[in-house]
Amino acid sequence: MQLKTNSEEETILLGERIGRELPPNSVVCFFGDLGAGKTTFIKGLARGCVSASTEQIHSPTFVYLHIYEGSKTLYHFDLYRLHDQDEFLSMGFEEYFFAGGICCIEWSERIAALLPPHCIKVCIDHAGNNERKISITPWDE
Ligand code: ADP
Ligand code: MG
Repeated sequence: MQLKTNSEEETILLGERIGRELPPNSVVCFFGDLGAGKTTFIKGLARGCVSASTEQIHSPTFVYLHIYEGSKTLYHFDLYRLHDQDEFLSMGFEEYFFAGGICCIEWSERIAALLPPHCIKVCIDHAGNNERKISITPWDE
């Protein structure tokens, strides 16, 4: 699925729509530069899947993981500062992929080899000031 959004709010609404439909154990992997809109998308997704308000969601910059509890549990990873895959494994993070919640992973490329086959890939690219090209695909496409 290829889409274009023209504002932050449109990206939030798109995330919300996706968030509402995600089944348990979904792993959503985000790709895109700093400022692309990964966290913005996840704000919407959190609204859709755990009814979190957008103000609650920030990139977990100084820790790797924030957990939001609602009717489902959202595991929000930001791996920008992760050194390597072993660090991810040593923290036992992998078990969250199958913990019955929803995982969102910013900077998924840091753990490319660990991503489960069932994950969904969201790529966000700048396409102008407030425009973003967003593609949402199953991992193997
Ligand atoms: P990332 O997590 O990818 O580093 P953020 O979501 O934190 O990026 O930041 C995206 C920035 O881009 C925000 O300041 C947001 O207001 C701005 N922005 C402008 N247009 C859009 C859009 N169409 N979608 C998402 N964010 C947008
Ligand atoms: Mg971010």
